[in-house]
Parts: sequence; structure tokens; C-alpha cells
Amino acid sequence: MDINLLTVDSIRTAVLERRTTASATVDAFYQKIEAEDAAIGAYLTLCKERAYQQARWVDAMVGRGDTLPPLAGVPIAVKDVLTTKGVRTTAGSKILANFIAPYDATVVTRLEAAGAILLGKTNCDEFAMGSSNENSGFHPVHNPHDHSRVPGGSSGGSAAAVAAGMALASLGSDTGGSIRQPAAFCGVVGLMPTYGRVSRYGLIAFASSLDHVGPFGKTVKDVALMLQSMAGRDPLDSTSADVAVPDYLAQLEGPVKGLRVGVPQEYFGEGLDPEVRAAVEAGIQELAKAGCEVVPISLPHTGYAIPTYYVVATAEASANLARYDGVRYGMRAEGKTLSEMYCRTRDAGFGTEVKRRIMLGTYALSAGYYDAYYLKAQRVRSLLARDFDQAFAAVDVIVTPTTPTPAFKLGEKADDPLAMYLADIFTVTADLVGIPGISIPCGKSQEGLPIGMQILGKHFDEPTLLRVAHAAEHALAAKLA
Ligand code: GLN
Repeated sequence: MDINLLTVDSIRTAVLERRTTASATVDAFYQKIEAEDAAIGAYLTLCKERAYQQARWVDAMVGRGDTLPPLAGVPIAVKDVLTTKGVRTTAGSKILANFIAPYDATVVTRLEAAGAILLGKTNCDEFAMGSSNENSGFHPVHNPHDHSRVPGGSSGGSAAAVAAGMALASLGSDTGGSIRQPAAFCGVVGLMPTYGRVSRYGLIAFASSLDHVGPFGKTVKDVALMLQSMAGRDPLDSTSADVAVPDYLAQLEGPVKGLRVGVPQEYFGEGLDPEVRAAVEAGIQELAKAGCEVVPISLPHTGYAIPTYYVVATAEASANLARYDGVRYGMRAEGKTLSEMYCRTRDAGFGTEVKRRIMLGTYALSAGYYDAYYLKAQRVRSLLARDFDQAFAAVDVIVTPTTPTPAFKLGEKADDPLAMYLADIFTVTADLVGIPGISIPCGKSQEGLPIGMQILGKHFDEPTLLRVAHAAEHALAAKLA
């Protein structure tokens, strides 16, 4: 069995028809990880005992002739910002280098209940703050398509693991683009569901009004299958929505004829790499050929999205990260007084970017500045939401580039935080507004680097989003082969 040909969609049948076993599949994936991950660095921790135990459970079901759950035998990787009982969870930070959570994140529980097999925890930017994975407290991740380039961030390890065939699917988190941007850089599919669609219980918080959990896969169908088993109200997360979960597979292959695709002029202006523009425009053409109506639209407040995001995200991060004080979680550096212990712990435990964000956020929330920064940013956020409400009155989905350029070189932007922040220019708005977004591969640069196309949908309208993404994926297949 060639594991490179397996998908989330095909493995269950392969196991059911006894063409392979879950245990043999796990063996093959660990062999691949052992052979290839030294050069990529996607994983921080492997959990073999847990994986084999789960595989034996799946194989026993096959042996008994039980009905197999939907993700039976699917080997997955999980970003290290999601807690796993008994398996260390670091959030990519030295401050949690030895932290073992006492419980599993709800998404992990649900995926394992559906038969998925957790191979390990993936590398990421520290506390999910970054766009290149270079802010990991452990080691960078290399893009599987070109090892001198970044995989994107902050879920770089999860995207690279799927792109390199070291997992069939994975989980990431997206606060400003951290699923879609690395998906685009690594040439895989990455889905950020609607805010509240998927439980965040067990997700280490970065910016609570922006954080989302979502899947990566090789195909649109694979992420739809993952979402099906993850989505839905969770009493343990009060922000999870009490909205019925539709059947994401039912209409996946349905026609897209007559759907209106909005193309916002603000996303195709200055700073967009010409090769990215050409590839995304070709993707839009394919949708037009499939019968979609292409509608030029405007999202007039787009230019304010990055500054708004960096006020809201840093403010919320400064509050969320206050808990890492050397008392309750993770590492502690001793000091003569309590306050010295706090300072030394946080100084030694947090990396530069995390410290920068805590300082920016604390400033934005401080007395006298709150109205000028945080409150104002929340007002602009409402304007951004209005832009989308108006646009979605006339269109069903919106198509844009996922990123302004293909993957950049390791080190290229590491010393220039503002240049790094601009890597998220097309993704942050969806987080601020809470709508779902997906990135699918739509072409390659002359250097062979993947290019991603982003599709944005209405709140809770993942079915239409996935249907359009699936149609585009199939129309583009010949070009990407
Ligand atoms: N790159 C963005 C940031 O650094 C987004 C991160 C994310 O979505 N977690 O904040």
C-alpha cells in the first residue's frame, strides 16, 4: 500500500476491505516521519503508544465486523496548541516545554471517537503568534516544496506534515490566517470554520474573540470529512454555537451553476505578486466556466484590517498570557521575591515576538489608551463586518488570493515584524468578522512554489463554501497535476 496515495476519504474503505490494517498504516506513517521529518521539523512530539492503542481498537472493530466510524484509521497530526491528556502540549513555547495537560481538547476527543489516530503534535509559532513558524521556541519548520523556505505560520507544522505525507490530515488554529496562509504556502487545503462552529475547549488561548480551530487535508472532501466529525455545540465551550451541523458531504459535489462569486478589487491591488494574481484569476475563470456568475465587489475598509487585527489580537493576548506566571503552569525560574520569580519566569520562558505582543497589548488596554486603541479597533471591526454584510447581500462567496506572495525564504522577514504582519493582509479580516474561509491550491509559481486561492463564505454557510472549493479544485486539477 502506497501511503502517498491514501486520503481521509479512502482509508476507511481500505481498512474495511482488509487491504491494510490501521496498525500497519500507523507503522508506515511513523517510518515516513522517521525518514523525512529531520529535514522538515513538522513534529514536536510523537505519541506512538496512544496511536497504536487506537489502531488496535480500529483493527478489533474490523475483526468483529462492526460498523466502522467515519474516520476509522485516519492518521492525523494536531497543532501543539491543543491539549492532549498525557502527551505534552507546548504551544511552541519554552514556558510550556514540559507541560502535560490533564485533559484532551474536545476536537481531539471527537476525532478519536470517530476513529482517527493521533500520530503526534506539530510545531508552530509560539502561542500561534507568527506567519512563518520561525517563532517556534524549539526549531523552525521547512517548507516541503523547498527546504530553504518557510511553511507559513502559525500552524506551519500541521500544514507541512500533510504536504509531506507525514499525516493524512491535521488540525490547526486560525486567529489571523494561521490555517489558510500555511495551507497556501504548502500546497494543501486549509479550512477555517465559522467562529463558534467548532469547540475551542482545550485550545490554548491566543486572542479569544478571534481564535478558531480547523482542519488541513489534501483535498476539499478530506477537510469536509474532518469538519463533519469536529463541528457542533460543546457544553464545555460557551462560545461554541448551538447551530445544527449540516451534512457537509451531501452537496459537496453538487453544481455551482448560478452561484455568485464576488471578487473584491481591494484584494488585487498593489503588493500582489503577479504570479499569484494570474493563478487566482485563472481559478476564478474556472468557476466562471462552471457556470458561476463573477461579480466585482468592494470591501472599502480592507485597508484598516491589519492595524485593527494587531490591536485586538495583542490586547486579548496580553490578558490571556497573564496566566503563565511560574505558579500554575509550566516552567519556573526562581527569584528572591514573588515578583522577581514572575519576571524571571516570563523573561526566560517567552520569546521575543510574544513579549512584543504582550507589551503592545498591555499598552493598548492601559488606562487612558483603551478608548483610543482597543475601543476604536472594535468600532473599525464593526465597519469591516458591515462591508461583508453588504457584499454578501449580492454574492454567495468571495474569492481572493490567500497570500500576497508564495512562501518566502527562512530568515527573509525574521527581523522585520511589520513585513511579517503583512503576510496576513488577505486573511485577518475573516477572523475579525467571524466568517468561514478556505484556502485551496490554485497554481504554482515558476519556481515551483504552491499558490493558494481563498474562498470566503457567509456565517455557517460552510456547505456552499465547500461546494465552490470542490468545484474549483476539480476544475484546476489538470493544471496542478
Ligand atoms: N500571523 C498572524 C499573527 O501573527 C496570525 C496568527 C494566527 O492566526 N494564529 O498573529
